[in-house]
Amino acid sequence: MARRTVKVNVGKGYEVIIENGILKNCGSIVKNTVGKNRAAVITDSNVTKLYLDTVLESLKNVGIEYEYFVFEAGEKSKNISTLSDILEFLAEKKFVRSDTIIALGGGVTGDMAGFASAVYLRGIKFIQIPTTLLAAVDSSVGGKTAIDLSAGKNLAGAFKQPEAVICDPETLSTLPENEFANGMAETIKYGILFSEELFETFEKEPTADNLCEMIEKCVAFKGRTVENDEFDNGERKLLNLGHTIGHAIEKCSNFAITHGHAVAAGTAMIARAGEALGLTEKGTAARAEYMLKKYSLPTDSDYSVEDLTAAALSDKKRAGDKITLVVPVKIGECILKNEPVEALKKYIELGKEK
Ligand code: ADP
Ligand code: ZN
Repeated sequence: MARRTVKVNVGKGYEVIIENGILKNCGSIVKNTVGKNRAAVITDSNVTKLYLDTVLESLKNVGIEYEYFVFEAGEKSKNISTLSDILEFLAEKKFVRSDTIIALGGGVTGDMAGFASAVYLRGIKFIQIPTTLLAAVDSSVGGKTAIDLSAGKNLAGAFKQPEAVICDPETLSTLPENEFANGMAETIKYGILFSEELFETFEKEPTADNLCEMIEKCVAFKGRTVENDEFDNGERKLLNLGHTIGHAIEKCSNFAITHGHAVAAGTAMIARAGEALGLTEKGTAARAEYMLKKYSLPTDSDYSVEDLTAAALSDKKRAGDKITLVVPVKIGECILKNEPVEALKKYIELGKEK
């Protein structure tokens, strides 16, 4: 299977390399990218059992010295205490500025290892090896890293671009169905945002081959968006399709509903609201719903309009009395709509399934 490479032109630029089976050769890519300096592999307790040995072996084969750090899998670990443990580990193992941190795992690992690489010695090199679909199509590209605080998710972090992203879609074969669906929600998001053609490919069963192509396309769209707006002040807001209502659903559920599932419901809701308001081409919501359901994703929320609105408006990252909503025009095209915060309730009301 051919190797697919997407160049992301942010900072000094980096490549996202996608290829089935590439994990066992990741060492040579690491070496080509950052040289033979030492590597600190950061991973979680689940991914350790599945893929750590393959990565370490590959590093060893090309003569890269390594240490590794394993934390307990799950969003619960994405906090200052684990970050502190990672930083202490790096210092104790005497990692220096020219060394590299490798994040092996899903979004949680990428976020934490990325943040650690942004602050350790005021910044050391960082390579992402995403092993969840969500991380592959979304969080591993773009340079956003963060940890959660008691007051909310992702409230402390840094923009830190990786030196490279190495994605082996074969690793996604071990993902629990629920986690795969989580990633499909963001994948479907790219189709609705940027390309009807991409959207239509989700009709096909995700085989190893078309997964490579799907990831490549999503990464290319994300890369282009991020290139135009590295620090998230404009166009990048498009990537928040389904996220305003999605975040509210996550919050109402006290995060029992996972990110992708909440975003799926948020996406269907904003499409239905858009149709009701005459902003969205008729039939768009039905197409989005059909595709989300195909991947066992929800298309509505049981929480009340009042609860969802309150949760959405308590978002700490919201600026002033305006809110920017991403609304589909049709499959493959969305717009940013700047609305007074009071308008959000109407969108949520209209977005609920009748
Ligand atoms: P995200 O959904 O943001 O990527 P995590 O990093 O927490 O979130 O990953 C989701 C879950 O999937 C975690 O429990 C993680 O250990 C597990 N996981 C990650 N990659 C794989 C994989 N390739 N196979 C099986 N489980 C995995
Ligand atoms: Zn998201």
